[in-house]
Amino acid sequence: MLDFHPVIFVTFIFGAIVGSFLNVCIQRIPEGESVIHPPSHCPNCKAPIAFYDNIPVFSYLILRARCRACRERISPRYFAVELLTASLTVALFYKFGLGPAFLTSFIFVAALIIISFIDLDVMIIPDVISLPGIVLGLVFSLAGRYVIDDPFEIIPSPLSSLSGLLVGGGFLLAVGWIYEVFTKVEGMGGGDIKLFAMIGAFLGWQSLLATLLFASLGGAAIGLTVMVVKGVGRRYPIPFGPFLCLGALLYLFFGKELAAFYLYPP
Ligand SMILES: [Zn+2]
Repeated sequence: MLDFHPVIFVTFIFGAIVGSFLNVCIQRIPEGESVIHPPSHCPNCKAPIAFYDNIPVFSYLILRARCRACRERISPRYFAVELLTASLTVALFYKFGLGPAFLTSFIFVAALIIISFIDLDVMIIPDVISLPGIVLGLVFSLAGRYVIDDPFEIIPSPLSSLSGLLVGGGFLLAVGWIYEVFTKVEGMGGGDIKLFAMIGAFLGWQSLLATLLFASLGGAAIGLTVMVVKGVGRRYPIPFGPFLCLGALLYLFFGKELAAFYLYPP
């Protein structure tokens, strides 16, 4: 049983507020709009959203998923992203406490959430998230070596981060190229390649195999389900980005335990 801690409330609310900002990013980045200005407004009637209607998680429930001005339905995605971000923030707090490992993982998880929901929505992985993410992963690895102390060793060494970036990006680049040569169809988007490079930069090369394994299993399971439900033969493009993000998340939370289990079975 996990002990309850009053800080959990604060952590949850902090996560929900950040989740609310991630929603703005998910909505506006594909449109090429600023995430700062203008302030939140209804996407349908453009009415500005009052502060008391902009409370993460709760406003969606109080407003019963409808805009106060025009009664248009609010996408459940807003609620889902806020609740997911808040829950993952609490989970990160339980895992790492408050410290450098929490901070770097939190930024990483926020990037994964933005990327997943944009990829689900418009089948694009935005460079404005993945490319700075690659740089940030490298910077954190240098900070982990020279500046900050990470008792959980979730921050990889600079060499592991750099090789993760190169091997991750290079591997998917090669897979995409081979797939294209044989099928004449573009299989792996450039966005997936940069995302996998970002995951390698943040978690080190050791994370890549497990992440790819989780992602492929998840992708295959969903792909087969779609085939069964919608019928075999037709191509239904399923974004791979969310599965890579999910794989990276599983590695972040359970990677060390899995590696220990694999190397030293009980
Ligand atoms: Zn409205």
